[in-house]
Amino acid sequence: MTAPLRLRLDAAALADNWRTLDRMSGAAACGAAVKANGYGLGAIAVAERLAAAGCRDFFVATWAEAERLAPLGLSVSVLHGVRDADMPLALAGIARPVLNSEAQVARWRAAGGGACDVMIDTGINRLGVAPKAVRDGLLDGLAIETLLSHLACADEDSEMNARQRSAFAGLAGATAARRMSLANSGGIALGGDYAFDLTRPGIALYGGIVRSDYAGRIRSVVTPQAQVLQRRTVAAGETVGYNATWRAPRASEVAILNLGYADGYVRGFSDTGTAGEGRLPVIGRVSMDLLALDVSASPDLGEGDWVTLDFALPDAAAASGMSQYELLTLMGQRYDRVWG
Ligand SMILES: *Cc1c(COP(=O)(O)O)cnc(C)c1O
Repeated sequence: MTAPLRLRLDAAALADNWRTLDRMSGAAACGAAVKANGYGLGAIAVAERLAAAGCRDFFVATWAEAERLAPLGLSVSVLHGVRDADMPLALAGIARPVLNSEAQVARWRAAGGGACDVMIDTGINRLGVAPKAVRDGLLDGLAIETLLSHLACADEDSEMNARQRSAFAGLAGATAARRMSLANSGGIALGGDYAFDLTRPGIALYGGIVRSDYAGRIRSVVTPQAQVLQRRTVAAGETVGYNATWRAPRASEVAILNLGYADGYVRGFSDTGTAGEGRLPVIGRVSMDLLALDVSASPDLGEGDWVTLDFALPDAAAASGMSQYELLTLMGQRYDRVWG
């Protein structure tokens, strides 16, 4: 049975975005962050398509995410490393942990773990071991595939970017790591100095424009569509939706769509979202499962017809007050995800 709401997912745009980021990464390899269910698109579908395009390095946050990808037989790194509870899966070799703390390094050593990655904290103060601990020998003898660090301000022109880059570059040769990796989507646009051996874009693969450098180069991948459940004429002075926030200034044509905030079409789109390339404004509050549009500009639109929401990520973020990351990762489970 087809659902009354779907995500149109553009496979060619996804592959093109990866090729663009791969090219911008210069001699470095270009991987892919597919955590959070592939930023909401579906991790397996995304990973299969990126692998076919040539991507070889995949990043997830947790072991449950790694387990879901395991049947694909890809090279996967688990960004959050290993808790005690993760050790059975980690030692089974379905993915490499990205060790993030001295405790995780000790846990991995004690278990006789094999190849691993290690995260260095160069200033974001989130996850990672200190450069000084590395210089003092913390990682000696570990079979490190990739040494990673992560930029705090890659989507801005911040002096912190260069500071983090040089702190990371200072560790070249300090470990047995085969490769070094620093740049996420924003970091790739900062230039070749940031690429090291491997880049790790996420949001830009999926159509996010996190720096102006990407405008016109990164293609939109995700488009939500929903079916009209009902069309009605609302008399002048009547209101539409919860809390009666929208009042018809004149007799108005209104369509009710099968889409709401439980699907990630957040309440921030109330009175600000649009559909049909700007012709059909969202009116009143977005409900959990429903949405009202002023469809005066579409006289033929009726029950059962599909409506395409305007969802270019920078515009949608501005309209809703959410980040591009949130708009993607909040998309719910009720959509049919249709690749074309
Ligand atoms: C999520 C994540 C990425 C990808 O970041 P984007 O901003 O989506 O490109 C890369 N590296 C790490 C460590 C991450 O957590």
